[in-house]
Formats: sequence, C-alpha cells, structure tokens
Amino acid sequence: MIPLDFKQIVTQSIQADWLTAKKGSLDILRIDLLHPIISGNKWFKLQHYLQEATELNYSTIATFGGAYSNHIIATAFACQQLGLKSVGIIRGEAADNLSHTLLLAQELGMELIFVSREEYRDKDALQKQLADNWYWVNEGGYGIKGAKGAAAVLNYATNLADYNFIIAAVGTGTMLAGIINAALPHQKVIGISAMKGNHSLEANVREMIDDEKKNSFSILHDYHFGGYGKHPKQLLDFINRSFDDYKIPLDIVYTSKTFFAVEDLVNKNFFPLGSKVLMIHSGGLQGNLSLPAGVLSF
Ligand SMILES: *Cc1c(COP(=O)(O)O)cnc(C)c1O
Repeated sequence: MIPLDFKQIVTQSIQADWLTAKKGSLDILRIDLLHPIISGNKWFKLQHYLQEATELNYSTIATFGGAYSNHIIATAFACQQLGLKSVGIIRGEAADNLSHTLLLAQELGMELIFVSREEYRDKDALQKQLADNWYWVNEGGYGIKGAKGAAAVLNYATNLADYNFIIAAVGTGTMLAGIINAALPHQKVIGISAMKGNHSLEANVREMIDDEKKNSFSILHDYHFGGYGKHPKQLLDFINRSFDDYKIPLDIVYTSKTFFAVEDLVNKNFFPLGSKVLMIHSGGLQGNLSLPAGVLSF
C-alpha cells in the first residue's frame, strides 16, 4: 500500500454565496488527503498507543471494530509499518463475502477474530478470554493517548490563529478532545455528533481535556441523519452536490454530516457575522465503498 504523505494535507478555502451573505469564511483542513484509505484522524489517534506498546516491548496490538471500521484499517496499516502483529476483534459473524475494509486489513497482516454482537458488548470479558500478552487499544482509539495524538492535527492548519471556530465530526469524542486541547485560547470548538442522542459524549470529552478548556467547546446532536451509519438520500444528495460545488469528497458517516451542519449553522446565524471557521476533514472515505457503485459521483 502507498505510504502516508503529510505534504498532501492542505487548507482549502470554500467560496459560496451562503458564506458571503454572512461575511464569513470557511476553510477545510484536508486531513483526508494524507492517504486514500487510511483515515487521517485514526492514524493520528493511534500514535501514542503504538509508541507505548513498542516501549513496553509488546509485539501484538489488538483492538475492536465493525466491518467498515476506519480504525481497524488504520491499525492494520500502522502495525504493518512498525513491524507489529495486529489482531482485530470484529463485531458480528464473518460474512461469506468479507467487506473490502476487512479484506484489506487481512492483506495488511491483521488477524481477524469474529465475535457475536452480544459478546462484542463485553469487551473486558473478551480481553480476558483472548490473550493477555497483547497490547489492547480501545475501539476507535478512544482515550487520553488518542486525544494526545489527535491534537497534532491542528499543526497542519496553515494559519491556525486566524480562526474563531473549529468544527469537527464526533464519534467517541477523542479527536475533538485533542483539538480542544490544541486550540488557541480565543477559539471555540464545535463537535457534530454522528450518533443519535449520545449524551455521554460531553462528559467523556471533559475527561480528556485540560481543566481550563472545559467551557471552550460544545457538541451538537441535531445532525445525525437518523443515527450512526445512517445515510438517507438527502445526505447522499448533499455529498454529491458538495463534490460538484467544492470538489470536496465527503464520507457517509462523519464528514458529510459535519459539512452539512456548517452550512446550516452559517445560514441560521449560529456564528457571529464575519466569523472565520475551520472545519476538519477527518477522512473516512474508504467507508464509502460500502455503497453500491454509482450512488456517489466520485
Ligand atoms: C472515527 C472518525 C471520526 C470520529 O473520531 P472520534 O475521535 O471517535 O470522535 C471522525 N471522522 C472520521 C472520518 C472518522 O473515521
């Protein structure tokens, strides 16, 4: 697989009437350009876990995920690069035709272990039952070390100090926590939850951020489009339109909902007139391959 290329990450300005109307500006930090398959944010989140595993002389990394998981593929890739073995505990029985995500993870050397949805819920039991000489990474890279890795994402913004608002997609909240910690004191960070009604997120994020940042963020829960993994036609049409209008490829789980939210929030005067907004494009595009061919125009 082709290597990661950090020089590909750019800050892209969006030109649109809905921005001009509010005298606002919107730039997109294109972390997705790091690699066509490895989701930018997942790779960043893994760094400090893998560093610790190496320091403690573990040779195998184990983690959890579903059949289309960006985290599974990023873990498989990062471990292959570091010469570590990887094990993916996969939610649900093995299908006759494995998803492209899982096939690729296997190609990268990951051992896949399929467990029922019920077993998957009790991760502590699985960890005990499987091997105790594996280094375990939480599902999605959730945790303080993940946040520390994700903080580095903001290093790639060209003129970070220019922005008043930074907006990003939220799954576990780990990336958001890292961004909150790395944001400058005058910046407010907005998270868009990809899940329906996950109101434990705020508390989870608070546990991963510095005390003085506790009031510098908020998470919006109105842009889930039916829930995690749901992508109604309205969202798919929005993705195609965004690609036509701005040449931005969005993923169906996270970044499409976030970009939709940005436009909606601008139109609703959520941001004060003249605000400068930075949106993080966190990647995840490999997940779009779960759609039938032809649904998306890119
Ligand atoms: C996992 C993921 C997120 C969410 O990251 P969290 O740290 O779990 O909140 C956002 N965008 C993309 C593309 C992802 O793959």
